[in-house]
Amino acid sequence: MKSVIVAVSVTVLMMGSKLIDSNSAFLFKDQNKYIIVIHGGVGTISREMPDSIKEDYLRSLSEALTIGKTILHNGGTSLDAVEQVVKFLENDPKFNAGKGAVYTSEGTHELDASIMDGRDLSCGAVAGVRTIKNPISLARLVMEKTSHVLLVGEGAETFGKKMNVQLVPNNYFDTPKRFEQWQKAIQKETKGTVGCVALDIHGNLAAATSTGGVVNKIPGRVGDSPIIGAGTYADNLTCAVSCSGKGELFIKHSVAYNISALMKYKNYSLNDAAEEMIHNYITEGDGGLIAVDKNGNYAIVYNTTGMFRGIANSEGIFEIKIWD
Ligand code: ASP
Repeated sequence: MKSVIVAVSVTVLMMGSKLIDSNSAFLFKDQNKYIIVIHGGVGTISREMPDSIKEDYLRSLSEALTIGKTILHNGGTSLDAVEQVVKFLENDPKFNAGKGAVYTSEGTHELDASIMDGRDLSCGAVAGVRTIKNPISLARLVMEKTSHVLLVGEGAETFGKKMNVQLVPNNYFDTPKRFEQWQKAIQKETKGTVGCVALDIHGNLAAATSTGGVVNKIPGRVGDSPIIGAGTYADNLTCAVSCSGKGELFIKHSVAYNISALMKYKNYSLNDAAEEMIHNYITEGDGGLIAVDKNGNYAIVYNTTGMFRGIANSEGIFEIKIWD
């Protein structure tokens, strides 16, 4: 049975996206079944947080989740859902992505993002961009309009201009909250990266992650979020993953890819694979991830005090949470 699936998928990859659709549907499609999981980062999230701030987070996460759920419910693709959810969170100053990106050690902002389509492993990413309002959409353009995977810095910005994406001055990303955080240069801070993973009714998986990186980083530092296989991964044969935490650790251990590999080569369940990577490879307090698999299972695993997150599916689940 295994070799049949491998043979089918190889043929599919060689024959273009139309066939990928129909064959992956043949393999995995479960009529009208969809699931979406979002995150707004991990970290030391105090339970003493004032109610008004907590409600503000819950409201934003709920709106983001509704955007993604509506797309999937109407038969849209997981790729559109993850992009639109992440774009919404990028425009919300509460999260460390887009508008709310943290400060570098020089008082500037450098943003990273990536997106991956589980149908055919196509992916796109940008790193170190300073004037792109929505890095996740530029990452998608890299995926769809170039033969490359990752564009950085000025080259990415020039490409963005060519693609007519919305440009902003770097100080658009200045926010009082992040300024204060930078001034204190708090190390064990809430991370606040955003991400989304989804399975659509066509049986396709997708993942997206966007971040301002870590506070006070050296300009030029790139974390795991735009690195395919580290902070983001999606493969219709296994799962879709988006991570948050200390990026260097997620890069070293290729966390997102390894979850897929444990499932593919060792028959791990999604949850076992996610637990294995977070609890055995990421030091306590340093990260977490969200993931969904091709059968509509999900995993939310973190070793920090909390993770801003939400989950919705075709069975009517709609949940937003911060702590356990
Ligand atoms: N993983 C991100 C990075 O290292 C940070 C985060 O998740 O907040 O750039």
